[in-house]
Amino acid sequence: MQDSIIRHLIKFNTIIIGGGPAGLFAGIHLKTGRNAILEKNSQAGKKLLIAGSGRCNITHIGLIKDFFEHYGAHSSFIKHALKQYSNSDLLNFFENCGLKTIVDKNGKVFPFSEDSKDVLRLLEHQCERNSTEILTKQNISVTKTSDSGFLLITSESEFTCKNLIIATGGRSYPGTGSTGDGYEMAVSLGHSVIRQKPALTPVFIKDYKFAELSGVSLSSRQVYIYRNSKKIKEHRGDFGFTHKGLSGPGILDPSRFMEQGDVLKINLAGTNITEFTSDFLSRASIQGKTTLLSFLKDYDIPKSLIKNILQEIGLSADDTLAIITRPLRIKLAELFCEYPFHIEKIGGYEMAMTTAGGVDLDEISPKTMESKICKNLYFIGEILDIDGDTGGYNLQAAFSTAYAAAMNINNSIDTSGI
Ligand SMILES: Cc1cc2nc3c(=O)[nH]c(=O)nc-3n(C[C@H](O)[C@H](O)[C@H](O)COP(=O)(O)OP(=O)(O)OC[C@H]3O[C@@H](n4cnc5c(N)ncnc54)[C@H](O)[C@@H]3O)c2cc1C
Repeated sequence: MQDSIIRHLIKFNTIIIGGGPAGLFAGIHLKTGRNAILEKNSQAGKKLLIAGSGRCNITHIGLIKDFFEHYGAHSSFIKHALKQYSNSDLLNFFENCGLKTIVDKNGKVFPFSEDSKDVLRLLEHQCERNSTEILTKQNISVTKTSDSGFLLITSESEFTCKNLIIATGGRSYPGTGSTGDGYEMAVSLGHSVIRQKPALTPVFIKDYKFAELSGVSLSSRQVYIYRNSKKIKEHRGDFGFTHKGLSGPGILDPSRFMEQGDVLKINLAGTNITEFTSDFLSRASIQGKTTLLSFLKDYDIPKSLIKNILQEIGLSADDTLAIITRPLRIKLAELFCEYPFHIEKIGGYEMAMTTAGGVDLDEISPKTMESKICKNLYFIGEILDIDGDTGGYNLQAAFSTAYAAAMNINNSIDTSGI
């Protein structure tokens, strides 16, 4: 049977699918032909609005060379785009567009107003100034190559374009529109996609004993990830207790490596077992009446946490060092230097700030974001197999990859008369 639906046919030079930060930033920097962003929601940038708890941590202030270690195993890919369009370039861009910024004590950069609406408004306004059309409520059902480039079909329209940029994001916070549609588009255009999993996500702990400590946090502690009794990774960062597990940058950043069943050993005391033991023995021999609470507080461990752990092995905060037997001392050292938290599950996409996995980087040019498989096809932002740490590294990656794609399109002369 013939398709009887009559759709409008609209021609563009470049179409960007997805109006998140990556799509909008590409739209701002395209300089040739008639261009559009097709966004499936009724507004662009829904995820950007909730970034940084609504404050929008747009980038980090550190040196660009220090960014590379913040993308897991994928720094060698992302460094080209970051060097081509660095955090300084981004901050100059925002400043030239009239957005003042502030930097917090950890080097995170926010708009001065600490309101992500200002960032979104600016990006949309700059798209408008650049005559890039933002067409909302456009849910693309089919993406395929055609004689003149690409053909995109929605329920009401058909679009053709010479260049196609896919910027549909990952799977995290699906309520914002990032439901992983772009992966199917990538596959239909010949690409491989690496299995995705939630990243920058909290963990739920088995037999969790610290619910009443929810909100308590410790700064700069070493976290060791063990799988089948073997250490597979370690990471240092701040972490905190939640009602059902652990969160904070020290957990979120390495969560891309974690799996259900792994054990997180956390160095609560901030010193290793040997040093802890020797400190304990020397204090016990000189000042045997020192209480466990006073000894452990010197390691900057919150009182509520000390009491909770001591209770676990039948000790009281008021017990003195002198009465601790050797087996108990060994247990104390183990618990305070390598407390084992067994991961029941890692947080799902509804709470993960980003997605690990995505379009296979081996098939993408790191300098231009163009597909090595399909000419004039580009992938930018979170759809790529790149996920950054907390601190503004994901938005910077979205902006830098968007810029790389736009520049390559600008530099390819022929716009086929459109
Ligand atoms: C709660 C939260 C807080 C965060 N805070 C920060 C932060 O402070 N700093 C930071 O650096 N990073 C932060 N991130 C991560 C950051 O927001 C993302 O990495 C970034 O938004 C990715 O940009 P993107 O444009 O690639 O994708 P997205 O922002 O996910 O945008 C993709 C867009 O594509 C649209 N789309 C999807 N499918 C289709 C389709 N079929 N047709 C048309 N349109 C489609 C979606 O509706 C969406 O608008 C945070 C993430 C979350 C969830």
